[in-house]
Amino acid sequence: MKILVLNSGSSSLKYKLFEDRRSMAEGVIERIGEEGGVKNHHEALESVEKDLVERGVLASFGELDAVGHRVVHGGEKFVRPIRIDAEVIEAIRELIPLAPLHNPANLEGIETMAKKAPLLPQVAVFDTAFHQTMPEEAYLYAIPIELYEKEGIRRYGFHGTSHRYVAERAAERLGKPLERVNLITLHLGNGASACAVENGRSVDTSMGFTPLAGLVMGTRCGDLDPEIPILMERKGMDADKVLNKRSGLKGLCGENDVRTIRAAMLSGDAAAERALKIYAYRIRHYVGAYFAVLGRVDALVFTAGVGEHSAYVRGAVCEGLEHLGIRIDESRNERGERDIAADDSPVRVFVIPTDEELEIAIQTEAVLNL
Ligand code: ADP
Repeated sequence: MKILVLNSGSSSLKYKLFEDRRSMAEGVIERIGEEGGVKNHHEALESVEKDLVERGVLASFGELDAVGHRVVHGGEKFVRPIRIDAEVIEAIRELIPLAPLHNPANLEGIETMAKKAPLLPQVAVFDTAFHQTMPEEAYLYAIPIELYEKEGIRRYGFHGTSHRYVAERAAERLGKPLERVNLITLHLGNGASACAVENGRSVDTSMGFTPLAGLVMGTRCGDLDPEIPILMERKGMDADKVLNKRSGLKGLCGENDVRTIRAAMLSGDAAAERALKIYAYRIRHYVGAYFAVLGRVDALVFTAGVGEHSAYVRGAVCEGLEHLGIRIDESRNERGERDIAADDSPVRVFVIPTDEELEIAIQTEAVLNL
Protein backbone atom coordinates (compact mmCIF):
# COMPACT_ATOMS: atom_id res chain seq x y z
CA MET A 1 0.00 0.00 0.00
CA LYS A 2 1.28 3.44 -0.92
CA ILE A 3 0.26 6.09 1.56
CA LEU A 4 1.20 9.75 1.50
CA VAL A 5 1.19 11.44 4.90
CA LEU A 6 0.64 15.20 4.90
CA ASN A 7 1.11 17.67 7.73
CA SER A 8 -0.21 20.92 6.37
CA GLY A 9 0.64 24.15 8.17
CA SER A 10 -0.27 27.69 7.20
CA SER A 11 3.04 28.32 5.43
CA SER A 12 4.56 24.84 5.19
CA LEU A 13 3.65 21.37 4.00
CA LYS A 14 5.50 18.36 5.38
CA TYR A 15 5.15 15.08 3.53
CA LYS A 16 6.30 11.51 3.83
CA LEU A 17 5.58 8.62 1.50
CA PHE A 18 5.17 5.08 2.84
CA GLU A 19 5.01 1.85 0.92
CA ASP A 20 3.82 -1.04 3.08
CA ARG A 21 4.84 0.97 6.14
CA ARG A 22 8.34 1.51 4.81
CA SER A 23 9.40 5.13 4.49
CA MET A 24 10.26 5.87 0.82
CA ALA A 25 10.79 9.64 0.77
CA GLU A 26 10.06 12.73 2.79
CA GLY A 27 10.36 16.46 2.49
CA VAL A 28 8.94 19.83 3.33
CA ILE A 29 7.71 22.71 1.20
CA GLU A 30 8.28 25.95 3.08
CA ARG A 31 7.31 29.62 2.69
CA ILE A 32 3.94 28.86 1.07
CA GLY A 33 2.33 32.19 0.11
CA GLU A 34 5.48 34.06 1.11
CA GLU A 35 8.16 35.77 -0.91
CA GLY A 36 10.46 33.26 -2.57
CA GLY A 37 8.05 30.39 -1.97
CA VAL A 38 5.25 28.76 -3.94
CA LYS A 39 2.00 30.71 -4.27
CA ASN A 40 -0.42 28.43 -2.43
CA HIS A 41 -1.13 24.91 -1.18
CA HIS A 42 -2.12 23.81 -4.69
CA GLU A 43 1.33 24.68 -5.99
CA ALA A 44 2.89 23.13 -2.91
CA LEU A 45 1.16 19.82 -3.67
CA GLU A 46 2.36 20.02 -7.28
CA SER A 47 5.91 20.40 -5.92
CA VAL A 48 5.40 17.37 -3.68
CA GLU A 49 4.22 15.26 -6.61
CA LYS A 50 7.09 16.47 -8.79
CA ASP A 51 9.62 15.68 -6.06
CA LEU A 52 8.28 12.14 -5.55
CA VAL A 53 8.23 11.50 -9.29
CA GLU A 54 11.78 12.83 -9.72
CA ARG A 55 13.00 10.61 -6.91
CA GLY A 56 11.49 7.68 -8.76
CA VAL A 57 9.31 6.54 -5.85
CA LEU A 58 5.96 7.36 -7.48
CA ALA A 59 4.70 7.74 -11.07
CA SER A 60 1.98 10.21 -10.01
CA PHE A 61 -0.50 10.77 -7.16
CA GLY A 62 -2.75 8.41 -9.17
CA GLU A 63 -0.62 5.57 -7.87
CA LEU A 64 -1.38 6.31 -4.21
CA ASP A 65 -3.81 4.17 -2.22
CA ALA A 66 -4.60 6.93 0.24
CA VAL A 67 -3.53 10.16 1.87
CA GLY A 68 -3.35 10.47 5.66
CA HIS A 69 -3.64 13.96 7.08
CA ARG A 70 -2.50 15.17 10.46
CA VAL A 71 -5.33 17.24 11.92
CA VAL A 72 -4.63 19.02 15.18
CA HIS A 73 -8.08 19.33 16.69
CA GLY A 74 -10.85 16.77 16.56
CA GLY A 75 -12.78 18.20 19.53
CA GLU A 76 -15.13 15.73 21.19
CA LYS A 77 -16.48 14.59 17.86
CA PHE A 78 -13.52 12.59 16.62
CA VAL A 79 -12.37 9.82 18.91
CA ARG A 80 -10.53 7.93 16.19
CA PRO A 81 -9.19 8.48 12.67
CA ILE A 82 -11.85 8.82 10.00
CA ARG A 83 -12.28 8.66 6.23
CA ILE A 84 -12.75 12.22 5.00
CA ASP A 85 -15.95 13.23 3.22
CA ALA A 86 -17.89 16.50 2.91
CA GLU A 87 -19.43 16.02 6.35
CA VAL A 88 -16.04 15.46 8.02
CA ILE A 89 -14.64 18.56 6.31
CA GLU A 90 -17.56 20.57 7.70
CA ALA A 91 -17.01 19.17 11.18
CA ILE A 92 -13.30 20.05 11.09
CA ARG A 93 -14.29 23.54 9.98
CA GLU A 94 -16.70 23.85 12.91
CA LEU A 95 -13.79 23.06 15.23
CA ILE A 96 -11.75 26.06 14.03
CA PRO A 97 -12.60 28.15 17.13
CA LEU A 98 -10.80 25.49 19.21
CA ALA A 99 -7.66 25.54 17.01
CA PRO A 100 -7.72 28.83 15.10
CA LEU A 101 -4.16 28.52 13.81
CA HIS A 102 -3.97 24.83 13.00
CA ASN A 103 -7.31 23.49 11.78
CA PRO A 104 -7.65 26.01 8.89
CA ALA A 105 -4.17 25.07 7.65
CA ASN A 106 -4.94 21.34 7.95
CA LEU A 107 -8.20 21.88 6.05
CA GLU A 108 -6.37 23.74 3.32
CA GLY A 109 -4.24 20.63 2.72
CA ILE A 110 -7.29 18.34 2.76
CA GLU A 111 -9.40 20.45 0.40
CA THR A 112 -6.57 21.11 -2.02
CA MET A 113 -5.77 17.40 -2.20
CA ALA A 114 -9.46 16.57 -2.65
CA LYS A 115 -9.64 18.95 -5.63
CA LYS A 116 -6.48 17.58 -7.15
CA ALA A 117 -7.40 13.90 -6.70
CA PRO A 118 -11.14 13.63 -6.00
CA LEU A 119 -11.26 9.83 -6.04
CA LEU A 120 -8.30 9.25 -3.75
CA PRO A 121 -9.34 8.13 -0.24
CA GLN A 122 -8.27 10.63 2.40
CA VAL A 123 -8.11 9.98 6.14
CA ALA A 124 -7.89 12.48 9.01
CA VAL A 125 -5.80 11.49 12.04
CA PHE A 126 -6.34 13.81 15.00
CA ASP A 127 -3.79 14.90 17.65
CA THR A 128 -6.56 14.98 20.22
CA ALA A 129 -8.30 11.65 19.47
CA PHE A 130 -6.17 9.37 21.68
CA HIS A 131 -7.04 11.48 24.73
CA GLN A 132 -10.81 11.26 24.24
CA THR A 133 -10.84 8.33 26.68
CA MET A 134 -10.01 10.64 29.62
CA PRO A 135 -12.65 10.56 32.35
CA GLU A 136 -14.59 13.72 33.21
CA GLU A 137 -12.67 14.29 36.41
CA ALA A 138 -9.49 14.57 34.34
CA TYR A 139 -10.82 16.72 31.52
CA LEU A 140 -13.16 19.20 33.24
CA TYR A 141 -11.79 22.44 34.63
CA ALA A 142 -13.28 23.91 37.80
CA ILE A 143 -14.80 26.91 36.03
CA PRO A 144 -18.52 27.64 35.40
CA ILE A 145 -19.81 24.47 33.76
CA GLU A 146 -21.59 26.48 31.02
CA LEU A 147 -18.18 27.26 29.56
CA TYR A 148 -17.76 23.55 28.91
CA GLU A 149 -21.33 22.96 27.81
CA LYS A 150 -21.60 25.98 25.51
CA GLU A 151 -18.03 26.68 24.41
CA GLY A 152 -16.34 23.31 24.75
CA ILE A 153 -13.74 24.60 27.19
CA ARG A 154 -12.14 21.49 28.70
CA ARG A 155 -8.85 19.62 28.58
CA TYR A 156 -8.35 18.00 25.16
CA GLY A 157 -4.66 17.16 25.16
CA PHE A 158 -2.38 16.95 22.11
CA HIS A 159 0.51 14.84 20.74
CA GLY A 160 -1.97 11.93 20.85
CA THR A 161 -0.53 10.29 17.75
CA SER A 162 2.90 10.19 19.34
CA HIS A 163 1.72 9.01 22.77
CA ARG A 164 -0.25 6.26 21.08
CA TYR A 165 2.63 5.19 18.85
CA VAL A 166 5.12 4.88 21.71
CA ALA A 167 2.53 3.19 23.92
CA GLU A 168 2.13 0.47 21.27
CA ARG A 169 5.89 0.04 20.94
CA ALA A 170 6.25 -0.09 24.75
CA ALA A 171 3.58 -2.80 24.98
CA GLU A 172 5.49 -4.83 22.36
CA ARG A 173 8.68 -4.51 24.39
CA LEU A 174 6.84 -5.57 27.53
CA GLY A 175 5.47 -8.54 25.62
CA LYS A 176 1.89 -7.68 26.57
CA PRO A 177 -1.14 -6.55 24.62
CA LEU A 178 -1.63 -2.76 24.66
CA GLU A 179 -4.93 -3.23 26.55
CA ARG A 180 -3.03 -4.66 29.50
CA VAL A 181 -0.28 -2.10 30.02
CA ASN A 182 -0.06 0.96 32.26
CA LEU A 183 2.45 3.57 31.14
CA ILE A 184 3.60 7.11 31.68
CA THR A 185 4.70 8.47 28.31
CA LEU A 186 6.79 11.64 28.07
CA HIS A 187 6.88 13.40 24.69
CA LEU A 188 9.68 15.95 25.12
CA GLY A 189 10.24 17.92 21.92
CA ASN A 190 9.88 21.65 21.27
CA GLY A 191 6.39 21.14 22.59
CA ALA A 192 6.20 18.68 25.48
CA SER A 193 3.51 16.64 27.18
CA ALA A 194 3.08 13.75 29.58
CA CYS A 195 0.36 11.13 29.32
CA ALA A 196 -1.01 8.57 31.77
CA VAL A 197 -1.96 5.42 29.88
CA GLU A 198 -4.16 2.90 31.70
CA ASN A 199 -4.81 -0.41 29.97
CA GLY A 200 -3.67 1.15 26.70
CA ARG A 201 -5.99 4.17 26.93
CA SER A 202 -5.12 7.76 27.76
CA VAL A 203 -6.63 8.68 31.13
CA ASP A 204 -4.83 11.98 31.67
CA THR A 205 -2.43 14.27 29.87
CA SER A 206 -0.60 17.46 30.72
CA MET A 207 -1.63 19.68 27.80
CA GLY A 208 -5.06 21.16 28.18
CA PHE A 209 -7.56 23.23 26.25
CA THR A 210 -4.53 24.34 24.23
CA PRO A 211 -0.95 23.07 23.90
CA LEU A 212 0.22 25.79 26.30
CA ALA A 213 -0.51 23.86 29.49
CA GLY A 214 1.53 21.37 31.48
CA LEU A 215 5.28 20.87 31.15
CA VAL A 216 7.89 23.58 30.67
CA MET A 217 8.58 23.69 26.91
CA GLY A 218 11.07 25.36 24.57
CA THR A 219 9.22 28.68 24.49
CA ARG A 220 5.89 27.87 26.20
CA CYS A 221 5.30 28.32 29.91
CA GLY A 222 3.23 25.24 30.74
CA ASP A 223 1.29 25.35 34.03
CA LEU A 224 1.07 28.63 35.89
CA ASP A 225 -1.23 30.58 38.16
CA PRO A 226 -4.15 31.64 35.91
CA GLU A 227 -4.04 35.12 37.42
CA ILE A 228 -0.64 35.79 35.79
CA PRO A 229 -1.84 36.44 32.21
CA ILE A 230 -4.57 38.71 33.59
CA LEU A 231 -1.88 40.70 35.38
CA MET A 232 0.26 40.82 32.23
CA GLU A 233 -2.62 42.21 30.19
CA ARG A 234 -3.22 44.83 32.87
CA LYS A 235 0.39 45.88 32.49
CA GLY A 236 -0.18 46.24 28.75
CA MET A 237 1.77 43.12 27.79
CA ASP A 238 0.62 40.73 25.07
CA ALA A 239 0.15 37.70 27.34
CA ASP A 240 -0.55 35.33 24.46
CA LYS A 241 2.77 36.18 22.84
CA VAL A 242 4.77 36.21 26.07
CA LEU A 243 3.45 32.83 27.27
CA ASN A 244 3.70 31.06 23.89
CA LYS A 245 6.88 32.52 22.41
CA ARG A 246 8.97 34.08 25.16
CA SER A 247 8.49 31.73 28.10
CA GLY A 248 9.55 28.15 28.88
CA LEU A 249 13.28 27.47 28.71
CA LYS A 250 13.75 30.53 26.52
CA GLY A 251 12.16 32.79 29.10
CA LEU A 252 14.26 31.31 31.88
CA CYS A 253 17.69 31.35 30.22
CA GLY A 254 17.39 32.95 26.78
CA GLU A 255 17.71 29.67 24.84
CA ASN A 256 15.17 27.05 23.89
CA ASP A 257 17.33 24.25 22.49
CA VAL A 258 18.21 21.76 25.22
CA ARG A 259 21.55 20.97 23.52
CA THR A 260 22.66 24.60 23.74
CA ILE A 261 21.39 24.96 27.30
CA ARG A 262 23.16 21.81 28.46
CA ALA A 263 26.43 23.01 26.88
CA ALA A 264 26.03 26.37 28.61
CA MET A 265 25.34 24.61 31.90
CA LEU A 266 28.52 22.56 31.53
CA SER A 267 30.52 25.73 31.06
CA GLY A 268 29.15 27.11 34.32
CA ASP A 269 26.10 29.13 33.22
CA ALA A 270 23.89 29.27 36.35
CA ALA A 271 20.74 30.41 34.51
CA ALA A 272 21.04 27.46 32.11
CA GLU A 273 21.44 25.02 35.01
CA ARG A 274 18.44 26.47 36.82
CA ALA A 275 16.29 26.32 33.67
CA LEU A 276 16.99 22.61 33.19
CA LYS A 277 16.32 21.95 36.87
CA ILE A 278 12.91 23.61 36.57
CA TYR A 279 12.25 21.70 33.33
CA ALA A 280 13.06 18.33 34.91
CA TYR A 281 11.27 19.15 38.17
CA ARG A 282 8.00 19.84 36.36
CA ILE A 283 8.25 16.53 34.51
CA ARG A 284 8.96 14.66 37.76
CA HIS A 285 5.95 16.35 39.29
CA TYR A 286 3.73 14.89 36.55
CA VAL A 287 5.34 11.46 36.79
CA GLY A 288 4.46 11.44 40.50
CA ALA A 289 0.91 12.60 39.80
CA TYR A 290 0.37 9.95 37.14
CA PHE A 291 1.73 7.26 39.44
CA ALA A 292 -1.05 8.23 41.82
CA VAL A 293 -3.58 8.18 38.97
CA LEU A 294 -2.48 4.78 37.66
CA GLY A 295 -1.55 2.91 40.82
CA ARG A 296 0.60 0.44 38.89
CA VAL A 297 3.07 1.48 36.20
CA ASP A 298 4.77 -1.02 33.86
CA ALA A 299 7.03 1.47 32.12
CA LEU A 300 8.06 5.08 31.87
CA VAL A 301 8.67 6.09 28.24
CA PHE A 302 10.89 8.91 26.98
CA THR A 303 10.37 10.12 23.41
CA ALA A 304 10.84 13.05 20.95
CA GLY A 305 13.95 15.25 20.51
CA VAL A 306 14.86 15.75 24.17
CA GLY A 307 13.48 12.44 25.48
CA GLU A 308 15.33 10.43 22.84
CA HIS A 309 18.65 12.27 22.99
CA SER A 310 19.25 13.94 26.32
CA ALA A 311 20.68 11.48 28.86
CA TYR A 312 21.04 14.42 31.24
CA VAL A 313 17.32 15.25 31.18
CA ARG A 314 16.31 11.57 31.52
CA GLY A 315 18.64 11.21 34.49
CA ALA A 316 17.42 14.43 36.11
CA VAL A 317 13.77 13.39 35.69
CA CYS A 318 14.33 9.97 37.27
CA GLU A 319 16.46 11.25 40.15
CA GLY A 320 14.73 10.60 43.45
CA LEU A 321 12.02 8.37 41.96
CA GLU A 322 13.62 5.17 43.30
CA HIS A 323 10.94 4.90 45.96
CA LEU A 324 8.36 4.72 43.16
CA GLY A 325 10.24 1.79 41.65
CA ILE A 326 12.07 3.75 38.96
CA ARG A 327 15.77 2.91 39.00
CA ILE A 328 17.86 3.76 36.00
CA ASP A 329 21.25 2.35 35.09
CA GLU A 330 23.50 5.36 34.48
CA SER A 331 25.67 3.74 31.84
CA ARG A 332 22.65 2.42 29.93
CA ASN A 333 21.19 5.91 30.10
CA GLU A 334 24.44 7.49 28.85
CA ARG A 335 24.56 5.05 25.95
CA GLY A 336 20.90 5.78 25.16
CA GLU A 337 19.93 2.10 25.25
CA ARG A 338 16.34 1.07 24.54
CA ASP A 339 15.70 0.12 28.18
CA ILE A 340 17.69 2.29 30.56
CA ALA A 341 16.26 0.80 33.77
CA ALA A 342 18.51 -1.12 36.15
CA ASP A 343 17.96 -4.89 36.12
CA ASP A 344 16.26 -4.77 39.54
CA SER A 345 14.02 -1.79 38.67
CA PRO A 346 10.34 -2.72 39.18
CA VAL A 347 9.39 -0.19 36.48
CA ARG A 348 11.02 -0.39 33.02
CA VAL A 349 12.31 2.87 31.57
CA PHE A 350 12.20 2.93 27.78
CA VAL A 351 13.68 5.30 25.23
CA ILE A 352 11.47 4.99 22.13
CA PRO A 353 11.91 7.13 19.00
CA THR A 354 8.52 8.47 18.06
CA ASP A 355 7.24 8.35 14.48
CA GLU A 356 4.05 10.33 14.11
CA GLU A 357 4.05 10.03 10.31
CA LEU A 358 4.32 6.25 10.45
CA GLU A 359 1.51 6.13 13.01
CA ILE A 360 -0.64 8.28 10.67
CA ALA A 361 0.15 5.88 7.80
CA ILE A 362 -0.75 2.86 9.98
CA GLN A 363 -3.99 4.49 11.12
CA THR A 364 -4.85 5.47 7.54
CA GLU A 365 -4.34 1.89 6.41
CA ALA A 366 -6.51 0.65 9.28
CA VAL A 367 -9.37 3.00 8.34
CA LEU A 368 -9.24 1.84 4.71
CA ASN A 369 -9.28 -1.83 5.71
CA LEU A 370 -12.39 -1.49 7.89
P1 ADP B 1 9.26 18.95 17.55
O1 ADP B 1 8.52 19.06 18.83
O2 ADP B 1 9.36 20.23 16.81
O3 ADP B 1 8.87 17.76 16.70
P2 ADP B 1 11.64 17.44 18.23
O4 ADP B 1 10.91 16.30 18.79
O5 ADP B 1 12.51 17.22 17.03
O6 ADP B 1 10.75 18.71 17.97
O7 ADP B 1 12.56 18.04 19.40
C1 ADP B 1 13.32 19.17 19.19
C2 ADP B 1 14.15 19.46 20.42
O8 ADP B 1 14.90 18.30 20.78
C3 ADP B 1 15.19 20.53 20.19
O9 ADP B 1 14.70 21.80 20.51
C4 ADP B 1 16.30 20.15 21.14
O10 ADP B 1 16.15 20.88 22.35
C5 ADP B 1 16.08 18.71 21.46
N1 ADP B 1 17.20 17.86 21.04
C6 ADP B 1 17.46 17.33 19.84
N2 ADP B 1 18.60 16.63 19.85
C7 ADP B 1 19.09 16.72 21.10
C8 ADP B 1 20.25 16.22 21.76
N3 ADP B 1 21.15 15.47 21.12
N4 ADP B 1 20.41 16.51 23.07
C9 ADP B 1 19.49 17.26 23.73
N5 ADP B 1 18.40 17.76 23.16
C10 ADP B 1 18.20 17.50 21.87
